[in-house]
Amino acid sequence: MPNTTHSFQEVNESYTMKEAIKEAKRCLHCKTPQCRTGCPIANEIPAWIHELSLGNLGNAIQIINTRSNLPAVCGRVCAHERQCEGHCILGKKGQAINIGKLERFVADFDANMQLNREGLKQKNRGRIAVIGSGPAGLTIAGDMARQGFQIEIFEMEPEPGGMLMFGIPEYRLPKEVVRHEIDRIRALGVVIHCNVTIGKALTIDDLFDQGFDAIFMGTGTGKPRKLDIPGKDLPGVEQAIYFLRLASLYNENNLKRDEVPVAQGQRVYVVGCGNTAMDAARTAIRMGASEVHIVYHKTINDMSALRVEYDEAVHEGVQFHWLSSIKAIHGTTHVEAIDLDTENTTSTLPADVVIMAVGQVPASRIVSTAKGIEVDDRGYVIVRDMPFGMTTRKGLFAGGDVVRHPATVVHAMQNAKAVAEGIIRYVDAIKLLEAIA
Ligand SMILES: Cc1cc2nc3c(=O)[nH]c(=O)nc-3n(C[C@H](O)[C@H](O)[C@H](O)COP(=O)(O)OP(=O)(O)OC[C@H]3O[C@@H](n4cnc5c(N)ncnc54)[C@H](O)[C@@H]3O)c2cc1C
Ligand code: SF4
Repeated sequence: MPNTTHSFQEVNESYTMKEAIKEAKRCLHCKTPQCRTGCPIANEIPAWIHELSLGNLGNAIQIINTRSNLPAVCGRVCAHERQCEGHCILGKKGQAINIGKLERFVADFDANMQLNREGLKQKNRGRIAVIGSGPAGLTIAGDMARQGFQIEIFEMEPEPGGMLMFGIPEYRLPKEVVRHEIDRIRALGVVIHCNVTIGKALTIDDLFDQGFDAIFMGTGTGKPRKLDIPGKDLPGVEQAIYFLRLASLYNENNLKRDEVPVAQGQRVYVVGCGNTAMDAARTAIRMGASEVHIVYHKTINDMSALRVEYDEAVHEGVQFHWLSSIKAIHGTTHVEAIDLDTENTTSTLPADVVIMAVGQVPASRIVSTAKGIEVDDRGYVIVRDMPFGMTTRKGLFAGGDVVRHPATVVHAMQNAKAVAEGIIRYVDAIKLLEAIA
Protein backbone atom coordinates (compact mmCIF):
# COMPACT_ATOMS: atom_id res chain seq x y z
CA MET A 1 0.00 0.00 0.00
CA PRO A 2 1.34 3.46 -0.81
CA ASN A 3 2.24 5.60 2.14
CA THR A 4 -0.25 8.46 1.91
CA THR A 5 1.79 10.61 4.30
CA HIS A 6 4.12 11.55 1.40
CA SER A 7 3.83 15.25 0.74
CA PHE A 8 5.04 17.62 -1.96
CA GLN A 9 7.74 18.95 0.39
CA GLU A 10 11.26 18.58 -1.00
CA VAL A 11 12.52 15.04 -0.33
CA ASN A 12 16.28 15.61 -0.13
CA GLU A 13 17.77 17.70 2.62
CA SER A 14 20.47 20.33 2.18
CA TYR A 15 23.86 20.58 3.93
CA THR A 16 24.52 22.88 6.88
CA MET A 17 27.43 25.33 6.38
CA LYS A 18 29.70 23.15 8.55
CA GLU A 19 28.85 19.99 6.62
CA ALA A 20 29.32 21.73 3.25
CA ILE A 21 32.78 23.06 4.15
CA LYS A 22 33.82 19.67 5.55
CA GLU A 23 32.73 17.95 2.30
CA ALA A 24 34.45 20.64 0.17
CA LYS A 25 37.72 20.13 2.08
CA ARG A 26 37.83 16.48 0.90
CA CYS A 27 38.36 17.64 -2.71
CA LEU A 28 41.88 16.94 -4.04
CA HIS A 29 41.83 19.80 -6.60
CA CYS A 30 43.07 17.40 -9.26
CA LYS A 31 45.32 18.88 -11.97
CA THR A 32 43.13 17.31 -14.66
CA PRO A 33 39.76 17.28 -12.92
CA GLN A 34 37.67 14.39 -14.21
CA CYS A 35 34.57 15.85 -12.54
CA ARG A 36 34.75 18.80 -14.95
CA THR A 37 35.19 16.45 -17.91
CA GLY A 38 32.06 14.61 -16.80
CA CYS A 39 29.99 17.80 -16.63
CA PRO A 40 28.23 18.55 -19.98
CA ILE A 41 28.68 22.31 -19.44
CA ALA A 42 32.25 22.01 -18.11
CA ASN A 43 31.44 23.63 -14.77
CA GLU A 44 34.60 24.86 -13.02
CA ILE A 45 34.00 22.39 -10.20
CA PRO A 46 37.38 22.29 -8.35
CA ALA A 47 37.69 26.09 -8.45
CA TRP A 48 34.36 26.80 -6.77
CA ILE A 49 34.72 23.88 -4.37
CA HIS A 50 38.05 25.41 -3.29
CA GLU A 51 36.38 28.79 -2.61
CA LEU A 52 33.64 27.01 -0.68
CA SER A 53 36.19 25.12 1.42
CA LEU A 54 37.59 28.53 2.47
CA GLY A 55 34.10 29.84 3.24
CA ASN A 56 34.21 32.29 0.28
CA LEU A 57 30.67 31.66 -0.93
CA GLY A 58 30.44 34.87 -2.97
CA ASN A 59 33.47 33.80 -5.02
CA ALA A 60 32.08 30.27 -5.35
CA ILE A 61 28.78 31.44 -6.88
CA GLN A 62 30.58 33.84 -9.20
CA ILE A 63 32.68 31.00 -10.57
CA ILE A 64 29.61 28.77 -10.99
CA ASN A 65 27.80 31.55 -12.87
CA THR A 66 30.54 31.74 -15.49
CA ARG A 67 29.21 28.41 -16.81
CA SER A 68 25.68 27.99 -15.46
CA ASN A 69 22.53 30.09 -15.18
CA LEU A 70 20.68 27.39 -13.25
CA PRO A 71 22.93 26.03 -10.43
CA ALA A 72 20.19 25.51 -7.83
CA VAL A 73 18.24 23.51 -10.44
CA CYS A 74 21.24 21.46 -11.64
CA GLY A 75 22.31 20.83 -8.03
CA ARG A 76 18.95 19.09 -7.55
CA VAL A 77 17.94 17.37 -10.79
CA CYS A 78 21.12 16.53 -12.74
CA ALA A 79 22.16 12.90 -13.02
CA HIS A 80 25.32 13.57 -10.96
CA GLU A 81 26.12 9.89 -10.58
CA ARG A 82 26.41 9.62 -14.38
CA GLN A 83 28.20 12.96 -14.81
CA CYS A 84 30.49 14.93 -12.44
CA GLU A 85 30.28 12.60 -9.43
CA GLY A 86 30.51 9.52 -11.63
CA HIS A 87 33.87 10.84 -12.89
CA CYS A 88 35.28 12.10 -9.55
CA ILE A 89 38.61 10.40 -8.82
CA LEU A 90 37.66 9.83 -5.19
CA GLY A 91 34.78 7.64 -6.33
CA LYS A 92 37.27 5.07 -7.68
CA LYS A 93 38.51 4.14 -4.20
CA GLY A 94 35.71 5.30 -1.96
CA GLN A 95 33.22 8.12 -1.83
CA ALA A 96 33.02 10.69 -4.68
CA ILE A 97 32.65 14.33 -3.65
CA ASN A 98 28.94 15.12 -3.31
CA ILE A 99 29.18 17.80 -6.02
CA GLY A 100 25.44 18.16 -6.69
CA LYS A 101 24.60 18.77 -3.06
CA LEU A 102 27.48 21.26 -2.73
CA GLU A 103 26.32 23.16 -5.84
CA ARG A 104 22.82 23.28 -4.43
CA PHE A 105 24.20 24.55 -1.09
CA VAL A 106 26.14 27.41 -2.73
CA ALA A 107 23.21 28.40 -4.99
CA ASP A 108 20.67 28.31 -2.14
CA PHE A 109 23.00 30.32 0.11
CA ASP A 110 23.29 32.90 -2.67
CA ALA A 111 19.48 32.97 -3.02
CA ASN A 112 19.02 33.59 0.70
CA MET A 113 21.90 36.05 1.18
CA GLN A 114 21.91 37.65 -2.29
CA LEU A 115 25.70 37.45 -2.48
CA ASN A 116 25.85 37.68 -6.24
CA ARG A 117 25.21 41.11 -7.73
CA GLU A 118 26.28 41.14 -11.35
CA GLY A 119 26.63 44.51 -13.04
CA LEU A 120 24.26 45.25 -15.94
CA LYS A 121 25.99 45.21 -19.32
CA GLN A 122 25.07 47.81 -21.92
CA LYS A 123 22.76 46.13 -24.43
CA ASN A 124 24.04 47.41 -27.76
CA ARG A 125 25.07 44.29 -29.72
CA GLY A 126 21.64 43.32 -31.07
CA ARG A 127 18.05 42.34 -30.22
CA ILE A 128 17.20 38.67 -29.81
CA ALA A 129 13.74 37.09 -29.39
CA VAL A 130 13.73 33.83 -27.43
CA ILE A 131 10.69 31.56 -27.75
CA GLY A 132 10.24 29.36 -24.70
CA SER A 133 11.63 29.80 -21.19
CA GLY A 134 12.80 26.28 -20.34
CA PRO A 135 16.47 25.55 -19.57
CA ALA A 136 17.42 26.14 -23.25
CA GLY A 137 15.71 29.56 -23.55
CA LEU A 138 16.92 30.68 -20.12
CA THR A 139 20.51 29.69 -20.97
CA ILE A 140 20.46 31.64 -24.24
CA ALA A 141 18.98 34.61 -22.38
CA GLY A 142 21.49 34.58 -19.51
CA ASP A 143 24.58 33.94 -21.64
CA MET A 144 23.69 36.52 -24.30
CA ALA A 145 22.50 39.24 -21.90
CA ARG A 146 25.89 38.98 -20.19
CA GLN A 147 27.50 39.60 -23.60
CA GLY A 148 25.58 42.81 -24.34
CA PHE A 149 22.48 41.57 -26.20
CA GLN A 150 18.97 42.83 -25.55
CA ILE A 151 16.83 39.74 -24.89
CA GLU A 152 13.05 39.33 -24.88
CA ILE A 153 11.56 35.93 -24.02
CA PHE A 154 8.10 34.92 -25.29
CA GLU A 155 6.48 32.17 -23.20
CA MET A 156 3.03 30.69 -23.75
CA GLU A 157 2.52 29.59 -20.13
CA PRO A 158 1.48 32.05 -17.40
CA GLU A 159 4.89 31.58 -15.72
CA PRO A 160 8.39 30.98 -17.13
CA GLY A 161 10.50 27.86 -16.49
CA GLY A 162 9.25 25.23 -18.98
CA MET A 163 9.51 21.71 -17.60
CA LEU A 164 11.27 23.07 -14.50
CA MET A 165 8.03 24.83 -13.55
CA PHE A 166 5.32 22.54 -14.98
CA GLY A 167 7.00 19.12 -15.37
CA ILE A 168 9.47 18.21 -12.60
CA PRO A 169 7.40 17.98 -9.40
CA GLU A 170 7.71 20.22 -6.35
CA TYR A 171 9.07 17.45 -4.10
CA ARG A 172 12.19 17.21 -6.33
CA LEU A 173 12.44 20.82 -7.45
CA PRO A 174 10.60 23.47 -5.39
CA LYS A 175 9.08 26.17 -7.61
CA GLU A 176 10.53 28.92 -5.39
CA VAL A 177 14.00 27.67 -6.35
CA VAL A 178 13.13 27.95 -10.07
CA ARG A 179 11.65 31.42 -9.53
CA HIS A 180 14.82 32.63 -7.86
CA GLU A 181 17.01 31.38 -10.71
CA ILE A 182 14.73 33.17 -13.20
CA ASP A 183 14.78 36.37 -11.14
CA ARG A 184 18.57 36.40 -11.42
CA ILE A 185 18.29 36.09 -15.21
CA ARG A 186 15.72 38.93 -15.24
CA ALA A 187 18.18 41.01 -13.18
CA LEU A 188 20.58 40.84 -16.15
CA GLY A 189 18.04 42.95 -18.09
CA VAL A 190 16.13 40.08 -19.75
CA VAL A 191 12.44 40.86 -20.39
CA ILE A 192 9.95 37.95 -20.17
CA HIS A 193 6.50 38.14 -21.82
CA CYS A 194 4.23 35.34 -20.52
CA ASN A 195 0.92 34.12 -21.99
CA VAL A 196 2.20 34.74 -25.55
CA THR A 197 2.02 31.74 -27.88
CA ILE A 198 4.19 32.13 -30.96
CA GLY A 199 2.35 30.63 -33.91
CA LYS A 200 -0.92 31.96 -32.49
CA ALA A 201 -0.70 35.46 -30.97
CA LEU A 202 2.40 36.32 -33.02
CA THR A 203 4.23 34.56 -35.86
CA ILE A 204 7.95 34.29 -36.65
CA ASP A 205 7.40 36.92 -39.40
CA ASP A 206 5.81 39.27 -36.84
CA LEU A 207 8.90 38.93 -34.63
CA PHE A 208 11.29 39.71 -37.51
CA ASP A 209 9.02 42.66 -38.44
CA GLN A 210 9.43 43.93 -34.85
CA GLY A 211 13.15 44.32 -35.61
CA PHE A 212 14.72 41.34 -33.85
CA ASP A 213 18.11 40.50 -35.37
CA ALA A 214 17.72 36.79 -34.63
CA ILE A 215 15.19 34.46 -33.03
CA PHE A 216 15.87 31.42 -30.85
CA MET A 217 13.29 28.64 -30.67
CA GLY A 218 13.60 26.60 -27.44
CA THR A 219 10.10 25.23 -27.44
CA GLY A 220 10.81 21.72 -26.14
CA THR A 221 8.68 18.65 -26.73
CA GLY A 222 5.22 19.57 -25.47
CA LYS A 223 3.16 17.10 -27.50
CA PRO A 224 2.75 13.71 -25.78
CA ARG A 225 2.86 10.51 -27.80
CA LYS A 226 -0.20 8.28 -27.67
CA LEU A 227 -0.56 4.50 -27.43
CA ASP A 228 -3.00 3.10 -29.93
CA ILE A 229 -4.93 0.66 -27.74
CA PRO A 230 -8.69 0.05 -27.31
CA GLY A 231 -10.15 2.46 -24.73
CA LYS A 232 -7.34 5.04 -25.10
CA ASP A 233 -9.88 7.90 -25.41
CA LEU A 234 -11.96 7.03 -22.32
CA PRO A 235 -12.21 9.66 -19.58
CA GLY A 236 -9.64 8.68 -16.97
CA VAL A 237 -6.88 8.12 -19.52
CA GLU A 238 -4.43 10.98 -18.99
CA GLN A 239 -1.13 12.15 -20.41
CA ALA A 240 1.65 12.30 -17.79
CA ILE A 241 2.87 15.79 -18.70
CA TYR A 242 -0.68 17.19 -18.51
CA PHE A 243 -1.28 15.43 -15.18
CA LEU A 244 2.00 16.80 -13.76
CA ARG A 245 1.15 20.29 -15.02
CA LEU A 246 -2.27 20.19 -13.32
CA ALA A 247 -0.75 18.84 -10.09
CA SER A 248 1.79 21.68 -10.17
CA LEU A 249 -0.95 24.30 -10.70
CA TYR A 250 -2.95 22.74 -7.84
CA ASN A 251 0.09 22.90 -5.54
CA GLU A 252 0.40 26.59 -6.32
CA ASN A 253 -3.31 27.13 -5.44
CA ASN A 254 -4.12 27.93 -9.07
CA LEU A 255 -6.49 24.97 -9.52
CA LYS A 256 -9.18 23.24 -7.49
CA ARG A 257 -8.51 19.74 -6.13
CA ASP A 258 -11.19 18.10 -8.32
CA GLU A 259 -9.53 19.50 -11.47
CA VAL A 260 -6.52 17.20 -10.91
CA PRO A 261 -7.32 13.81 -12.51
CA VAL A 262 -6.22 11.52 -9.62
CA ALA A 263 -8.63 11.48 -6.65
CA GLN A 264 -8.20 10.06 -3.16
CA GLY A 265 -8.35 6.23 -3.11
CA GLN A 266 -8.10 5.68 -6.88
CA ARG A 267 -6.17 2.86 -8.56
CA VAL A 268 -3.64 4.27 -10.99
CA TYR A 269 -1.65 2.58 -13.78
CA VAL A 270 1.25 4.48 -15.34
CA VAL A 271 2.60 3.27 -18.69
CA GLY A 272 6.33 3.85 -19.29
CA CYS A 273 9.47 3.80 -17.15
CA GLY A 274 11.38 7.02 -17.70
CA ASN A 275 11.71 9.90 -15.25
CA THR A 276 8.34 11.28 -16.40
CA ALA A 277 6.65 7.98 -15.51
CA MET A 278 8.36 7.95 -12.08
CA ASP A 279 7.29 11.54 -11.44
CA ALA A 280 3.71 10.77 -12.49
CA ALA A 281 3.58 7.69 -10.24
CA ARG A 282 5.07 9.45 -7.21
CA THR A 283 2.80 12.45 -7.78
CA ALA A 284 -0.24 10.12 -7.96
CA ILE A 285 0.78 8.77 -4.55
CA ARG A 286 0.93 12.31 -3.20
CA MET A 287 -2.54 12.97 -4.62
CA GLY A 288 -3.83 10.11 -2.43
CA ALA A 289 -4.08 7.16 -4.89
CA SER A 290 -4.65 3.87 -3.07
CA GLU A 291 -2.57 1.85 -5.55
CA VAL A 292 -0.02 3.00 -8.11
CA HIS A 293 1.43 0.62 -10.70
CA ILE A 294 4.09 1.18 -13.35
CA VAL A 295 3.71 -0.97 -16.47
CA TYR A 296 6.80 -1.35 -18.65
CA HIS A 297 7.33 -3.58 -21.66
CA LYS A 298 11.02 -4.15 -20.98
CA THR A 299 13.10 -5.08 -17.89
CA ILE A 300 14.44 -3.06 -14.98
CA ASN A 301 17.83 -2.91 -16.73
CA ASP A 302 16.27 -1.14 -19.72
CA MET A 303 14.43 1.63 -17.86
CA SER A 304 15.65 5.14 -18.62
CA ALA A 305 14.71 6.47 -15.16
CA LEU A 306 17.55 7.00 -12.72
CA ARG A 307 18.05 4.19 -10.22
CA VAL A 308 17.58 6.59 -7.31
CA GLU A 309 14.17 7.59 -8.72
CA TYR A 310 13.20 3.94 -8.95
CA ASP A 311 14.38 3.22 -5.38
CA GLU A 312 12.38 6.14 -4.04
CA ALA A 313 9.29 5.09 -6.01
CA VAL A 314 9.53 1.55 -4.56
CA HIS A 315 10.00 3.02 -1.09
CA GLU A 316 6.86 5.10 -1.54
CA GLY A 317 4.81 2.05 -2.54
CA VAL A 318 4.79 2.08 -6.36
CA GLN A 319 4.39 -1.46 -7.78
CA PHE A 320 6.32 -2.41 -10.94
CA HIS A 321 5.20 -4.78 -13.71
CA TRP A 322 8.19 -5.62 -15.94
CA LEU A 323 7.86 -7.18 -19.42
CA SER A 324 4.24 -6.05 -19.32
CA SER A 325 1.87 -3.94 -21.37
CA ILE A 326 -1.71 -2.72 -21.22
CA LYS A 327 -3.59 -4.38 -24.09
CA ALA A 328 -6.96 -2.67 -23.57
CA ILE A 329 -8.72 -0.21 -21.29
CA HIS A 330 -12.35 -0.94 -20.37
CA GLY A 331 -15.19 1.25 -19.08
CA THR A 332 -18.50 2.75 -20.14
CA THR A 333 -18.22 6.42 -19.15
CA HIS A 334 -14.81 6.23 -17.37
CA VAL A 335 -11.90 3.83 -16.97
CA GLU A 336 -13.02 0.80 -14.94
CA ALA A 337 -10.46 -1.90 -15.74
CA ILE A 338 -7.39 -2.75 -17.81
CA ASP A 339 -6.14 -5.87 -19.57
CA LEU A 340 -2.58 -6.32 -18.30
CA ASP A 341 -0.40 -8.67 -20.31
CA THR A 342 2.72 -10.04 -18.61
CA GLU A 343 4.80 -12.47 -20.67
CA ASN A 344 1.73 -13.61 -22.65
CA THR A 345 -0.56 -14.03 -19.65
CA THR A 346 -3.41 -11.52 -19.63
CA SER A 347 -5.39 -10.51 -16.52
CA THR A 348 -8.24 -8.03 -16.30
CA LEU A 349 -7.66 -5.76 -13.29
CA PRO A 350 -9.77 -2.97 -11.77
CA ALA A 351 -8.41 0.54 -12.47
CA ASP A 352 -9.62 4.14 -12.24
CA VAL A 353 -6.90 6.13 -14.01
CA VAL A 354 -4.36 5.24 -16.70
CA ILE A 355 -1.48 7.70 -17.17
CA MET A 356 0.54 7.55 -20.40
CA ALA A 357 4.22 8.41 -20.09
CA VAL A 358 5.51 7.03 -23.39
CA GLY A 359 7.38 10.05 -24.69
CA GLN A 360 6.85 13.45 -26.25
CA VAL A 361 7.57 15.15 -29.56
CA PRO A 362 7.62 18.85 -30.57
CA ALA A 363 4.33 20.63 -31.28
CA SER A 364 3.95 22.03 -34.80
CA ARG A 365 2.46 25.47 -33.96
CA ILE A 366 5.49 27.44 -35.11
CA VAL A 367 6.60 25.45 -38.15
CA SER A 368 3.04 25.32 -39.49
CA THR A 369 2.65 29.12 -39.30
CA ALA A 370 6.03 30.14 -40.73
CA LYS A 371 7.72 29.44 -44.04
CA GLY A 372 11.03 27.68 -44.56
CA ILE A 373 11.53 25.75 -41.28
CA GLU A 374 12.38 22.13 -42.07
CA VAL A 375 11.72 19.38 -39.55
CA ASP A 376 12.42 15.64 -39.59
CA ASP A 377 9.71 12.98 -39.85
CA ARG A 378 8.94 13.25 -36.10
CA GLY A 379 8.81 17.05 -36.02
CA TYR A 380 12.28 17.80 -34.60
CA VAL A 381 13.71 20.99 -36.05
CA ILE A 382 16.65 20.55 -38.41
CA VAL A 383 19.64 22.79 -37.64
CA ARG A 384 23.04 23.37 -39.20
CA ASP A 385 26.57 23.52 -37.85
CA MET A 386 27.50 26.89 -39.41
CA PRO A 387 26.37 29.13 -37.81
CA PHE A 388 25.74 26.58 -35.12
CA GLY A 389 22.03 25.99 -34.42
CA MET A 390 20.56 27.95 -37.34
CA THR A 391 17.45 26.35 -38.84
CA THR A 392 16.70 26.28 -42.57
CA ARG A 393 15.11 29.72 -42.07
CA LYS A 394 17.73 32.52 -42.05
CA GLY A 395 18.10 34.20 -38.64
CA LEU A 396 15.96 31.59 -36.84
CA PHE A 397 17.93 29.33 -34.49
CA ALA A 398 16.74 26.38 -32.42
CA GLY A 399 18.07 24.34 -29.50
CA GLY A 400 17.30 22.18 -26.48
CA ASP A 401 14.77 19.33 -26.67
CA VAL A 402 13.08 20.67 -29.83
CA VAL A 403 16.20 19.64 -31.77
CA ARG A 404 17.87 17.10 -29.51
CA HIS A 405 14.84 14.92 -28.58
CA PRO A 406 13.76 14.83 -24.92
CA ALA A 407 16.99 14.82 -22.95
CA THR A 408 17.93 16.45 -19.67
CA VAL A 409 18.16 19.93 -18.24
CA VAL A 410 21.94 20.11 -18.50
CA HIS A 411 21.99 18.73 -22.06
CA ALA A 412 19.46 21.38 -23.12
CA MET A 413 21.76 23.96 -21.47
CA GLN A 414 24.87 22.51 -23.13
CA ASN A 415 23.26 22.69 -26.55
CA ALA A 416 21.88 26.21 -25.94
CA LYS A 417 25.33 27.47 -24.91
CA ALA A 418 26.73 26.36 -28.26
CA VAL A 419 23.77 27.90 -30.11
CA ALA A 420 24.32 31.20 -28.24
CA GLU A 421 27.82 31.29 -29.77
CA GLY A 422 26.29 30.59 -33.21
CA ILE A 423 23.77 33.44 -32.82
CA ILE A 424 26.48 35.84 -31.66
CA ARG A 425 28.62 35.06 -34.73
CA TYR A 426 25.62 35.50 -37.02
CA VAL A 427 24.45 38.80 -35.50
CA ASP A 428 27.98 40.24 -35.30
CA ALA A 429 28.46 39.34 -38.99
CA ILE A 430 25.20 40.93 -40.20
CA LYS A 431 25.91 44.08 -38.16
CA LEU A 432 29.38 44.31 -39.72
CA LEU A 433 27.93 43.88 -43.22
CA GLU A 434 25.31 46.57 -42.46
CA ALA A 435 28.05 48.92 -41.22
CA ILE A 436 30.17 48.60 -44.39
CA ALA A 437 27.23 48.56 -46.86
C1 LIG B 1 8.24 15.04 -15.83
C2 LIG B 1 9.64 15.37 -16.27
C3 LIG B 1 10.69 15.13 -15.39
C4 LIG B 1 11.99 15.42 -15.78
N1 LIG B 1 13.00 15.22 -14.88
C5 LIG B 1 14.25 15.59 -15.21
C6 LIG B 1 15.31 15.49 -14.25
O1 LIG B 1 15.14 15.02 -13.13
N2 LIG B 1 16.56 15.89 -14.63
C7 LIG B 1 16.81 16.42 -15.86
O2 LIG B 1 17.95 16.81 -16.13
N3 LIG B 1 15.83 16.51 -16.80
C8 LIG B 1 14.56 16.12 -16.49
N4 LIG B 1 13.55 16.24 -17.42
C9 LIG B 1 13.89 16.71 -18.79
C10 LIG B 1 14.05 18.23 -18.85
O3 LIG B 1 13.02 18.85 -18.11
C11 LIG B 1 14.06 18.69 -20.30
O4 LIG B 1 15.04 17.99 -21.00
C12 LIG B 1 14.33 20.20 -20.41
O5 LIG B 1 13.37 20.93 -19.66
C13 LIG B 1 14.30 20.66 -21.86
O6 LIG B 1 14.50 22.05 -21.91
P1 LIG B 1 13.95 22.95 -23.12
O7 LIG B 1 14.24 24.34 -22.73
O8 LIG B 1 14.47 22.42 -24.40
O9 LIG B 1 12.37 22.69 -23.16
P2 LIG B 1 11.18 22.90 -22.06
O10 LIG B 1 11.68 22.82 -20.66
O11 LIG B 1 10.16 21.93 -22.48
O12 LIG B 1 10.71 24.39 -22.34
C14 LIG B 1 10.04 24.75 -23.52
C15 LIG B 1 9.25 26.02 -23.24
O13 LIG B 1 8.74 26.54 -24.47
C16 LIG B 1 7.41 26.99 -24.28
N5 LIG B 1 6.75 26.98 -25.58
C17 LIG B 1 6.51 25.92 -26.38
N6 LIG B 1 5.92 26.32 -27.53
C18 LIG B 1 5.78 27.66 -27.44
C19 LIG B 1 5.23 28.64 -28.32
N7 LIG B 1 4.73 28.29 -29.50
N8 LIG B 1 5.22 29.93 -27.92
C20 LIG B 1 5.75 30.29 -26.70
N9 LIG B 1 6.28 29.39 -25.83
C21 LIG B 1 6.30 28.10 -26.22
C22 LIG B 1 6.85 25.97 -23.29
O14 LIG B 1 5.70 26.46 -22.63
C23 LIG B 1 8.04 25.80 -22.34
O15 LIG B 1 8.03 26.77 -21.33
C24 LIG B 1 12.24 15.95 -17.08
C25 LIG B 1 11.18 16.16 -17.97
C26 LIG B 1 9.90 15.87 -17.57
C27 LIG B 1 8.77 16.09 -18.53
S1 SF4 C 1 37.62 14.80 -9.51
FE1 SF4 C 1 36.77 14.84 -7.39
S2 SF4 C 1 38.59 15.20 -6.09
FE2 SF4 C 1 39.21 15.74 -8.21
S3 SF4 C 1 38.83 17.97 -8.40
FE3 SF4 C 1 36.94 16.91 -9.08
S4 SF4 C 1 35.64 16.79 -7.24
FE4 SF4 C 1 37.74 17.27 -6.53
